[in-house]
Amino acid sequence: MKLPNADKIKHIIRLVEGRAELIVRVRCPFCRTKNSLLLIGSTDKYECQVCCLHGKLDDLIVYFEDEFEHRHRKTVKLMSERSAVEWRG
Ligand SMILES: [Zn+2]
Repeated sequence: MKLPNADKIKHIIRLVEGRAELIVRVRCPFCRTKNSLLLIGSTDKYECQVCCLHGKLDDLIVYFEDEFEHRHRKTVKLMSERSAVEWRG
């Protein structure tokens, strides 16, 4: 993952003597709003700024793993369909 402006952010963290909290924003799996879900490492919590759902990071991982598996299964299905067509031809 590439962090844009990482140099500037690292510099600021140095200037505040490490008193910083790094928050990662991802798409919310509940309301599906882009970059609305905050992953807060220091408290082990997640919180959506749009639908206001919040909880523990552990609980969130389950949702993302489900989505990931679903996406992956779809890709595998597409690939096997494609090769089936090729075999016939
Ligand atoms: Zn949400």
